[in-house]
Amino acid sequence: MAHEDLKAHLEFFGELGVDGVRLEPDWRVRPGAAAAPADAPAPAQPAQVFRSAAGAVAAIREDLGDCTRCKLHGLGRRQIVFGVGNPDADLMFVGEAPGADEDIQGEPFVGRAGQLLTKIIEAIGLRREDVYIANVIKCRPPNNRNPEPDEVEQCEQFLFRQIDTIRPKVIVALGKFAAQSLLRTTDPITRLRGREYRYRDAILIPTYHPAYLLRTPSAKREVWEDMKRVRAILRGG
Ligand code: SF4
Repeated sequence: MAHEDLKAHLEFFGELGVDGVRLEPDWRVRPGAAAAPADAPAPAQPAQVFRSAAGAVAAIREDLGDCTRCKLHGLGRRQIVFGVGNPDADLMFVGEAPGADEDIQGEPFVGRAGQLLTKIIEAIGLRREDVYIANVIKCRPPNNRNPEPDEVEQCEQFLFRQIDTIRPKVIVALGKFAAQSLLRTTDPITRLRGREYRYRDAILIPTYHPAYLLRTPSAKREVWEDMKRVRAILRGG
């Protein structure tokens, strides 16, 4: 194992520590991302051509508006949790739905599970602001119940638009619900993880949800394996 890998490995298991993890700016930047040729085909947009992914993502948020498309709008949500991060990201994380902390702060993965996700991101040499983080569902379900099929049906179109605009190389589906929802399967996460899937021009890698890792620290070993694969794909491997 290379020194750098060993270092990250040890830190991942040492409570996924942040201190001392080397950031690697040379591979964090998507080649050519800032300088697309002027005659490059524009990404599919229904009526408007956006000069930047940031503009296109902002337009999706605008279309979502003060959404009342599904019943979750009237079941106690404080705010819509749209998504956060780099609109040009090579790596995107998709979770299930906002929880209590996210509902208050308006940002996905900000509670304890979110802090663990940040450490997982840093363990592969990236910063949280380098990636994009979103959920299948944009409003908090009451009592953190699972999202229901009619809610997913109404909401997932916005996640699909985020994915198609950001065009990440890798999507990490965090946990059973996100993986099953994106892959349209009822297979358990234990069977889904450890494999790669082609998904909307990206490679999708399912892994365990950080909240599960908080309850089951032994599962960090598998998540680390998944994240090493993510890192290899981002590096072109
Ligand atoms: S969960 Fe999605 S579809 Fe439902 S109200 Fe919130 S933003 Fe709209």
